[in-house]
Amino acid sequence: MAEKITMSANGTLQVPEEPIIPYIEGDGIGVDIWPAAQLVLDAAAAKYAKRVEWKEVLAGEKAFKETGNWLPDETVQTFRDYLIGIKGPLTTPIGGGFRSLNVALRQILDLYVCLRPVRWFAGVPSPVKHPEKVDMIIFRENTEDVYIGLELPEGSSEVKRLIELLHDEFGWEIRQDSGIGIKPISVTGSKRLVRAALEHAVRQGRKSITLVHKGNVQKYTEGAFMKWGYELVKEEFADVAVSWEDCGGDPGDKILVKDVIADIALQQVLTRPDEFDIIATTNLNGDYLSDALAAQVGGIGIAPGGNINYVTGHGIFEATHGTAPKYAGQDKVNPGSLLLSGVLMFEHLGWTDAAADIVKALEATIADKIVTYDFARLMDGAHEVRTSEFAQAMVERL
Ligand code: NAP
Repeated sequence: MAEKITMSANGTLQVPEEPIIPYIEGDGIGVDIWPAAQLVLDAAAAKYAKRVEWKEVLAGEKAFKETGNWLPDETVQTFRDYLIGIKGPLTTPIGGGFRSLNVALRQILDLYVCLRPVRWFAGVPSPVKHPEKVDMIIFRENTEDVYIGLELPEGSSEVKRLIELLHDEFGWEIRQDSGIGIKPISVTGSKRLVRAALEHAVRQGRKSITLVHKGNVQKYTEGAFMKWGYELVKEEFADVAVSWEDCGGDPGDKILVKDVIADIALQQVLTRPDEFDIIATTNLNGDYLSDALAAQVGGIGIAPGGNINYVTGHGIFEATHGTAPKYAGQDKVNPGSLLLSGVLMFEHLGWTDAAADIVKALEATIADKIVTYDFARLMDGAHEVRTSEFAQAMVERL
């Protein structure tokens, strides 16, 4: 019988053999990629006598058409109750009261980690010479930084008052024709993000964590993120991790924690990708890094993502690309991003065998040069297939 996933008192997810998992199909190409992803996820689960009972919830255009609301309360409540969910891309409503439905869901459920694994699948066209050297997991802080949305537009009476206040109280000179945004970075937000990265490193036997920050310029936000990260290593992880400074670069069998300035990091992930393992970083840096890295291994069409609160157990896994409206309903696009987000979700649930099988099937399908249009245009001798045919080819290889 299908049941809810729950959180035990000691903070671990309790996953039944037949969990009920809410999903949002997604707008635009959601109608193409969701059925494809579901087909493969179901087939892989069935190999291990497991079954997901998918429960559709509405958000985006479909929700607006049926309920007049872009993000119905019922949807948020269902994600709250069932803990784990998955979603396709959503249109950003214009004038709908939300800056972005994705950001709204992350903030309402306090999904403080944006998890983005970045690795290369053999055969995927890449712009770099050695994409196989890229195997990183980005932990991007998801709830603060400039994304908090506290901004005032240039010329408004509010911004004039703030400029005046900053002048009178702090002696700060800010140009009168400025817009102003606020960038809060807290001890709480930073430490829980770095803690999640360290716990993940321990669970997965990873070798290092790099704190990426812009602390040379923004000392009390970005610089503080780094400082609090190192503090946490000493306070809670001294038996399993050590900072570069404390070990001179030789951590023995412990996890090495180091840091790098964001602009240098963007160079080094290109020139020396094998020196990066887990990356823990603030929200805006993480945004840039995730897409830059995804491009290295073949584009954002197949990059997966998860938004997780490891304390409450809530997690929503999602395609990282948008709704690509020009291709909607054409059975044309690559279902890889949503599918691999499902793989990430299975790993999170402890269904690691089924997850590993899907990855192998994906590799085998691409190795046979069976790909959707986006890869086909970059590969010699490719056999271009539709979204649904790609999913079918993967199922045959499971
Ligand atoms: P987009 O939907 O990601 O599409 C941009 C381009 O990326 C497409 O034209 C296509 O490139 C390629 N692409 C995206 N998904 C693909 C897939 N599955 N397979 C192959 N190629 C794929 O970005 P956008 O056009 O800027 O945004 C459209 C809407 O999506 C907006 O409303 C935006 O707000 C929303 N959005 C939602 C999310 C989300 O829900 N997570 C994220 C970003 C954007 P080619 O045309 O070159 O083939």
